[in-house]
Amino acid sequence: MERTLIKDLRDHVGKTVTIMGWVSVRRDQGKMVFLDIRDATGSVQTVVLPKSPALDTAKELAREFVVEVEGEVSARPAQNVNSDVPNGDIEVAVSGIQILNSSETPPFDITVDTAALNEEVRLKYRYVDLRSERMQRIIRLRSEFVHACREFLHERGFVEIETPLLTESTPEGSRDFVVPSRLHKGKFYALPQSPQQYKQLLMAGGFERYFQLARAVRDEDLRSDRGFEHTQIDIEMSFVEEGDVMRLIEEMVVQTAEQLGRHIAQKPFPRFTFADAMERFGTDKFDMRTEEEKINGALSFAWVYRFPFFEQAPDGQWTFTHNPFSAPIPEHAELLLKKERIGDILTAQYDLVCNGFEVGGGSIRAHRAELLRATYEVMGHSPEEIESRVGHMLKAFSLGTPPHGGIALGVERLVMTLAGEEHLREVQAFPMTRGGQTSVMSAPKELSDAQLQELGITFQKPPRHE
Ligand code: ASP
Repeated sequence: MERTLIKDLRDHVGKTVTIMGWVSVRRDQGKMVFLDIRDATGSVQTVVLPKSPALDTAKELAREFVVEVEGEVSARPAQNVNSDVPNGDIEVAVSGIQILNSSETPPFDITVDTAALNEEVRLKYRYVDLRSERMQRIIRLRSEFVHACREFLHERGFVEIETPLLTESTPEGSRDFVVPSRLHKGKFYALPQSPQQYKQLLMAGGFERYFQLARAVRDEDLRSDRGFEHTQIDIEMSFVEEGDVMRLIEEMVVQTAEQLGRHIAQKPFPRFTFADAMERFGTDKFDMRTEEEKINGALSFAWVYRFPFFEQAPDGQWTFTHNPFSAPIPEHAELLLKKERIGDILTAQYDLVCNGFEVGGGSIRAHRAELLRATYEVMGHSPEEIESRVGHMLKAFSLGTPPHGGIALGVERLVMTLAGEEHLREVQAFPMTRGGQTSVMSAPKELSDAQLQELGITFQKPPRHE
């Protein structure tokens, strides 16, 4: 018989249906057995009555068995309606059960909140954890959020384009994960810290409006809100100024968050220059919510812009604060070209903050070769180094690249704020452990000697310290 989803059972009162799912709870009362059955759409109480041919099978069942259950849907009598649980007003009287798979005793109880469980156990059995109500809700929220953003962007003429994963190291201010090349022994690809250069090259390629749900991989110290991998809604637009990007992103964030039923504390989002933010809050990732707004789960967004372009290391060396591909604000282009008052040069960078987190950042880019070259000269690179690092960008800029700018929004950080969660692992299906180990599987791990040989890799024994 055709499967009926649990969410649709109420439309079938008085009829016999087949449902498929997991046994959440079994209550054996001797002569009859109650089974709470769960599928991806909901949960319902079923009852195996004393004379049911399914009674023997019902006795074999335990938590997390996968079953196909046939039975008649009935409305519960008024005095038995349980309004505390979903579908508490209906019940299925079971006439047949087929076991589709048995289950060993699950490693933990998923009918309660799993957030406080030991992380290692939880991630080793992540697929069991994902069945819990809270994880289902958050991962589905993530999907809805991403879907809403995609729709918003498609409606406005953005083209979704994937960029390579095996690529060249790009300076994003973090350490690269590298992949050895078999064909070119001794050489390495880098996994993208972001699609920064490719998205700019797509502007050179005439698309004008690009986006991608991009995976970004950075070898950074792990924190509760930062992992090795994250996803960003990566956007780039041609013929725009900073206000254009900020307005569009603000519209997208407001529309999608409100569509998901969230309250936004202040619209339009307040804007602070970096200098104002530092003076007012002492940080550029501030939380403006009142106590009441915190309790109500409001989202308090703000823009921070006009950041210093460069900062100086103790040895006097200048480096970029955010993104070497950014442009200076137009009034400061001359300073950059003449390399004067480096510390005063402001960049057309804008960051989006929400409830104390940085949830996005982007900039108007340098699209003329002399500006990007000057940026690298300020950072002390020789003409040869500049050619080797960004020669391809300088070349693209000399072949008709339009003015452009963009932004990347962190999906995990946004979903964390939307869901009121404080840990990255709550919003990724298969996060890393704090120690940098994959969920369920056990990477990183050694390669076989044959693999190492094929890649031309030998290891030096670490020096022994007696
Ligand atoms: N590439 C930047 C990042 O990943 C974002 C951007 O400037 O668009 O943080």
